[in-house]
Amino acid sequence: MSDSAPEERIRAPWELQEGWQHLARCRGSDASLFFSPTYLEKRDVRADREAKARAICAECAVKRDCLDFALSTREPHGIWGGFNEIERRAILARRVG
Ligand code: SF4
Repeated sequence: MSDSAPEERIRAPWELQEGWQHLARCRGSDASLFFSPTYLEKRDVRADREAKARAICAECAVKRDCLDFALSTREPHGIWGGFNEIERRAILARRVG
């Protein structure tokens, strides 16, 4: 038995068992567009990657469901509903404040 904490598993919208995820525009997309790499990502590289992911989200029929899910589960990683984790934290902070 290991003493180390279990490795956090990054979930992607298209891997969920939610009704809306079957309509996810990102199904079959490159997950690396939606999630930061494990190494430090340069600001301009991140902006470019996120812009590509947001373009997919912009055409997604379930972006509201996706965003609601990410907000309600405090999803800590990735672009969900067109918003990255920093933007989602700001949305939640505005709701509380
Ligand atoms: S809003 Fe974006 S991340 Fe969410 S299901 Fe649609 S395409 Fe995927």
